[in-house]
Amino acid sequence: MTDKRVLITGATQGIGYSVAKVLSPNYNVFICGRNEIKLRENALKLGCKGFFAIDLTQKGAVELLYKNVIDVMGHIDVLINNAGQYVYSRIEGTKDDDLTRLLTLNTVVPFKLSRLVVPDMKLNKYGRIINIGSISGVVGEGNASLYSMTKSALMGLTKSLALELAEFGITVNTINPGWVDTNLIDNDNLKSEFSEQEILDMIPQRRFVHPEEVARMCEYLISDSAKGITGQGLNICAGLTLG
Ligand code: NAD
Repeated sequence: MTDKRVLITGATQGIGYSVAKVLSPNYNVFICGRNEIKLRENALKLGCKGFFAIDLTQKGAVELLYKNVIDVMGHIDVLINNAGQYVYSRIEGTKDDDLTRLLTLNTVVPFKLSRLVVPDMKLNKYGRIINIGSISGVVGEGNASLYSMTKSALMGLTKSLALELAEFGITVNTINPGWVDTNLIDNDNLKSEFSEQEILDMIPQRRFVHPEEVARMCEYLISDSAKGITGQGLNICAGLTLG
């Protein structure tokens, strides 16, 4: 067990849960999400140091989460910005509510959390910020321009912040998954247009990425072996970017 302290957002299920499962045996992990019952169950099962249920799109939520984490852990060495939502919609049908919610959750929240954790990381001369982006933000996704826009923004944040923080022993990277087998893709709009088989046929490896593949990449990026990797987008997409 290292003494490193990790905050993972969006860890009730899916990729965030898997990251918590992979890291909790060796790190002090604090998890966040919206469902308190699930978070408590996960925290008990995985031996997490703490949990906090909150809707991160609400005013003041990021600051409240941060305060709760600091009360329990003192500081944060590793920030995993994973919480995110997906909207599959043509631009004409995209609602203002979705626009505000996705921009806030997928882009503004990672920025604000990064802003809060950086001072302690600088003092400690160590830090890892890992964003969970999407391949949609790398190559684009038809009828998902809003989602794609929010995930592309993470790459701008990643490259610029990596430059700003490089001299302090802090790395900033974004993992860009392709289709991952989680509830996120259990989306009515998407399912009305494509069957599961049609989605699989678009993927060169003809399979969904497993959440643990993303979690293992997080584990690697936190490790000392990955200290030279910063400002990068790492695609785990089963070949989707290859055309
Ligand atoms: P998921 O829907 O299974 O889990 C999302 C997590 O985010 C949940 O824990 C949920 O509680 C949390 N969350 C959602 N809205 C929130 C809010 N307003 N406040 C606080 N927490 C909130 O999704 P997932 O597939 O595990 O997605 C995790 C990340 O991976 C997301 O950022 C997503 O965009 C990204 N991603 C997923 C896929 C995929 O195919 N599943 C592909 C590329 C990228």
